[in-house]
Amino acid sequence: MKKYDVAIVGAGPAGSVCAYRLARSGARVILLDRAVFPRDKPCGGGLTGRAIRELPFDVDEVIEARVDEFEMRLQYGSSYCRKAQRPLVAMTQRSRLDALLVTRAATAGAEFRDGTKVNAIERRENGDFVVACEGERLGASLVIGADGANGKSATHLGLSGDRTLGVALEGNVPNDEIEPERYEARAVIELATVPGGYGWVFPKATHLNLGVGGWEATGPDLRTHLERLCHMHGTTAASLENVRGHRLPLRRNGAPLARGRSALIGDAAGLIDPVSGDGMFECFVSARLCCDAVQRVLSGQSADLIPYSSELEARLSRLAAASWAAKRAFDRFPRTAFALTRPRFVWSVIEQLIHGEIDHPGASRGPGRIALKSLKTIARAARPTPSAGA
Ligand SMILES: Cc1cc2nc3c(=O)[nH]c(=O)nc-3n(C[C@H](O)[C@H](O)[C@H](O)COP(=O)(O)OP(=O)(O)OC[C@H]3O[C@@H](n4cnc5c(N)ncnc54)[C@H](O)[C@@H]3O)c2cc1C
Repeated sequence: MKKYDVAIVGAGPAGSVCAYRLARSGARVILLDRAVFPRDKPCGGGLTGRAIRELPFDVDEVIEARVDEFEMRLQYGSSYCRKAQRPLVAMTQRSRLDALLVTRAATAGAEFRDGTKVNAIERRENGDFVVACEGERLGASLVIGADGANGKSATHLGLSGDRTLGVALEGNVPNDEIEPERYEARAVIELATVPGGYGWVFPKATHLNLGVGGWEATGPDLRTHLERLCHMHGTTAASLENVRGHRLPLRRNGAPLARGRSALIGDAAGLIDPVSGDGMFECFVSARLCCDAVQRVLSGQSADLIPYSSELEARLSRLAAASWAAKRAFDRFPRTAFALTRPRFVWSVIEQLIHGEIDHPGASRGPGRIALKSLKTIARAARPTPSAGA
């Protein structure tokens, strides 16, 4: 049986970046994915400034558009625009981004095997693992579950925890079917149009990406929400290509992240931001912190990956708590939440958050901080909806 230092299950943004970092540090890494690459993944493909900051290399070659302006609209009614001095989000397509990330991991020295489904992970008495793939068994000292929202590695590793699910549906409309100039360098966010979520229109090189997302219970209505979004943007659902849905796993506080020499990263750990539905920043942060913890085990400084849990919590938990509060506030008191986030001084805080210049709203100074704190207060007044988490 071939033996590795680390086996990573899943080669999305979390798994590939973790494999890249570990291979660069000299670890013997195998990166396994059931899909044959290049593969697509339902996603808006928006890389926030803070996500790009966390990447260990640049991904300019797969960036199709840059957004420096947000148009925020409430329930398809009143709206405002906020333009930043510099791009806030870089737009890509996941088939292109993920293909680049696995290539970088492989070039750095990770062994990449696509078309290889992991069926089981066994934990041995000495703490090592046997990863059972179709037709082969592989040995590993450490295992990282990076198999996304529908992955089974959390269950195999005894790390399934409490989580809330969201769901989102998206598709693409070619530029010649719509007025592309209206969306140039601009993202449109349609707030409070879907319970527990929103609609979006993102520009790409040759098309627009339109999507809607909300609580898992909204799943059966998402097609209707998407049709409405299309209609409000001068197109029809029939013009959409490649319409796909996927789950958004939202971890609850305290859900396990590591056990022995195994850990979860990215969507497998349920790290999606509750209010924005973004997850790639969280993929890259968890990949980096997990890689640091793995290196400490491999160098004998640490016996297991347990410290990774508290390190990740320390980096993300205050941001996640603020996001849960904003989500509840927008869900239950959308007009008040919209009014509170509208002033330019609030946007300067949101810009700093998007760029990762501050870790959470509480780290900001001035009136923007007070407005965002008020979201927490009104969120407390909102009795949790049955499907709401945290
Ligand atoms: C509609 C939608 C829009 C979104 N828009 C954005 C956005 O604009 N910006 C943003 O930052 N985030 C966005 N997100 C969230 C983002 O897509 C996820 O956070 C991100 O894909 C998580 O990456 P990951 O590497 O954890 O998992 P994934 O990207 O899901 O990758 C997991 C991989 O594991 C593989 N796998 C699964 N099971 C096995 C197995 N048994 N054996 C081997 N391999 C396996 C899969 O084939 C897959 O390649 C969106 C999500 C949705 C659903």
